[in-house]
Amino acid sequence: MSDAPKPLTQEEANGLLEVVQVLEKEYAGKIAHVIFTVTEVFPRAKKMVRVRGQLPEGTDMSVWTGPNVAFSLEIPIPAEELEGIEGAPQTSPRRYTVADYDVAARTLDIDFVLHEGDTPAMLWLRDAKPGTTIELESPRVHFLPPKGEKLVLVADSTAVPAVLRICAEHPLPAQTTLLTSAARDELPELAGVKTVFVSEEALGEEFTKLPETNAADALWAAGEQGQMRIVRRHWRKTLGRGKEQIAISGYWRAGISATARDIEGLRGIRDALVAGSSLAEITAAAEESDDV
Ligand SMILES: Cc1cc2nc3c(=O)[nH]c(=O)nc-3n(C[C@H](O)[C@H](O)[C@H](O)COP(=O)(O)OP(=O)(O)OC[C@H]3O[C@@H](n4cnc5c(N)ncnc54)[C@H](O)[C@@H]3O)c2cc1C
Repeated sequence: MSDAPKPLTQEEANGLLEVVQVLEKEYAGKIAHVIFTVTEVFPRAKKMVRVRGQLPEGTDMSVWTGPNVAFSLEIPIPAEELEGIEGAPQTSPRRYTVADYDVAARTLDIDFVLHEGDTPAMLWLRDAKPGTTIELESPRVHFLPPKGEKLVLVADSTAVPAVLRICAEHPLPAQTTLLTSAARDELPELAGVKTVFVSEEALGEEFTKLPETNAADALWAAGEQGQMRIVRRHWRKTLGRGKEQIAISGYWRAGISATARDIEGLRGIRDALVAGSSLAEITAAAEESDDV
């Protein structure tokens, strides 16, 4: 069976746009959004670029700071998946993490992993320079490691900003191991954290072989969805660990854009609404789920 997302017709899009309106009505006034003005763009590593920008005077910085705050970057480039669809949004939202911040200067740093393709995020990044503005939306503490005495963190390069903020601002147990496919120049020395470097294609598989995995009682993992599925399956099915012992997220999916994933998400919400679930129930089920 093909895993590729089903293309969108105008008729289906009309239904999904109604779902978007329901969501916008529900969250109207509750979603923080600000204009971010780029002040600096510089290489952070060979395959990582840091964009620093300032938020407007009077911004409540508390929602943009903390151990792992992710937000949506409203990229002003229409998604190619929605080409020809009437009423489609003209921006492509992409999730990123606050890599660092300075409350007094009201600045946020965003670390972009460079990857192939003329994708919305890469196109925007190539043009970003001091003075470029963009809207940031929906900041929230994404997720933190579950409580435990022996913690394993699993991260690819896209999850390095999250790991750095968690290590800097969240208490970690004395026995913490980081298994990562990030390049060595992307990660500074992390005090008290044993770090194991592996290749990106083998991240999931290496997790199953890591000696610390068997002994661990808590797991935090973020990265490519296929790799995260291997990690989750091993932890939950092979090792039989509980749901409360895992915090896991598929940050991106090889071969599939974030827009296509969002369309899949909207289809799920539409089907749940049709089946009679309330928005509160759908949100609670999504937050409860450790599925990737
Ligand atoms: C909560 C959260 C926090 C995140 N934080 C960060 C962050 O701080 N820094 C960061 O760099 N990313 C982060 N990501 C991942 C980022 O949102 C995705 O990589 C996103 O898809 C990039 O958008 P795009 O427009 O470049 O590519 P898309 O249009 O979404 O995808 C187009 C193609 O590019 C491929 N692709 C996308 N990302 C990558 C990648 N990293 N490597 C190789 N191929 C890729 C896709 O598989 C697809 O084939 C985060 C994701 C989430 C959910």
